[in-house]
Amino acid sequence: MLPQEIIRRKRDGKALSGEEIASFVRGLTSGTVSEGQIAALAMAVFFNGMTRDEAVALTLAMRDSGDVLDWSDLPGPVTDKHSTGGVGDNVSLILAPIVAACGAYVPMISGRGLGHTGGTLDKMDAIPGYVSQPDNALFRKTVLSAGCAIIGQTADLAPADKRIYAIRDVTATVESVPLITASILSKKLAAGLQSLVLDVKLGNGAFMTKSRDAAALATSLVEVANGAGLKTSALVTDMNEPLASAAGNAVEVENAVDFLTGRRRDARLEQVVLALAAEMLQQAGLASSNQEGERLAMDALASGRAAEVFARMVASLGGPRDFIERSTKYLPKAEVELPVKAARDGFVTGIETRDIGLVVVALGGGRTRPGDGIDHAVGITRLLPLGAEVRAGEALALVHAQSRADAERAAAAVLSAYTLGAAKPAAQKVIVRRIRPT
Ligand code: URA
Repeated sequence: MLPQEIIRRKRDGKALSGEEIASFVRGLTSGTVSEGQIAALAMAVFFNGMTRDEAVALTLAMRDSGDVLDWSDLPGPVTDKHSTGGVGDNVSLILAPIVAACGAYVPMISGRGLGHTGGTLDKMDAIPGYVSQPDNALFRKTVLSAGCAIIGQTADLAPADKRIYAIRDVTATVESVPLITASILSKKLAAGLQSLVLDVKLGNGAFMTKSRDAAALATSLVEVANGAGLKTSALVTDMNEPLASAAGNAVEVENAVDFLTGRRRDARLEQVVLALAAEMLQQAGLASSNQEGERLAMDALASGRAAEVFARMVASLGGPRDFIERSTKYLPKAEVELPVKAARDGFVTGIETRDIGLVVVALGGGRTRPGDGIDHAVGITRLLPLGAEVRAGEALALVHAQSRADAERAAAAVLSAYTLGAAKPAAQKVIVRRIRPT
């Protein structure tokens, strides 16, 4: 099948057959399909969309472009969560150990920061000694012994996605629901999961800022995943303010350790963690209802078992054995701390969440070019949530920077990301929507 004929059919608005899609993906993996042809097909899909059957065929072809992990030797269900990305979204660091402490296995293959959003892998790299790209043997050993392992994608998993994604990134074809769907799910299917829960973020700190678009993406992900044989549901969750009170790498790890050990739990983060844990446990067959799932998750936290799982995972992947007890000693610290002071009395009525994410990037905590190194120590903590009351001169947040000049620039940007008003705004729903397969 000639690639240009496949592109022509999609350009003309026709539905491609499973064989046409598989042949194109085989060609782009082996190198016989050119970069220009991949870009042309991506643009044709961007404009003409794909049917569910086409999206399922694309997902499966991309999954089969590399290794597919097999966990059939594990004595429990294998499950995972994927977030579309947000600010102060350190859910994975807390959720994976909770769900593992309840009897599931969570081989969590996570990504680096993208745009203004933080990446789980970058956060784990803030832990000294932690090997976030282990070989297969260490990955398996950790999943088996700790119950979860948070690691980065290997070159052998869904390599077709890597090639297509790099081309989409520079040809304005990222924002296509079928292409995003196939990209996310091909990697999850290649990870050999039995069930999956998606956290589709909605709001001014998410890629999806409109409710309709978030629902369309969540529905596409749920339908295509189930169509490809992976039991999947989705929650659409609010991202109109940072989820945790910390944004950055080391500071979000510290916030997750505080959560796991019970020292501090940000309220909205707790709601999202428990809702996702309940959904994962139910999907995995470890809870018979959402309420039971939530109760099991709370037990795993209260008993300290979730914190123990996190500690075992970190130690197994090369991090300090006493990390959970002494995380502040191990995590890197920035040179300068500067409070962001409110200019007037009032309630927090709005936060430009994307701008908060961009402050972290500008401090050096994210990348402006792929492959750049990052500074794990910088970030923002004590971010006040929507509805909080402040007096003039009190702190809205605390900036962690490597120089006074950086800190002042960041503090000014955080200050302008906050809107203060005279009246306390109504609380927004954190779990906006739940999408289950029909
Ligand atoms: N994340 C992915 O993995 N792929 C996309 O296309 C978008 C976000």
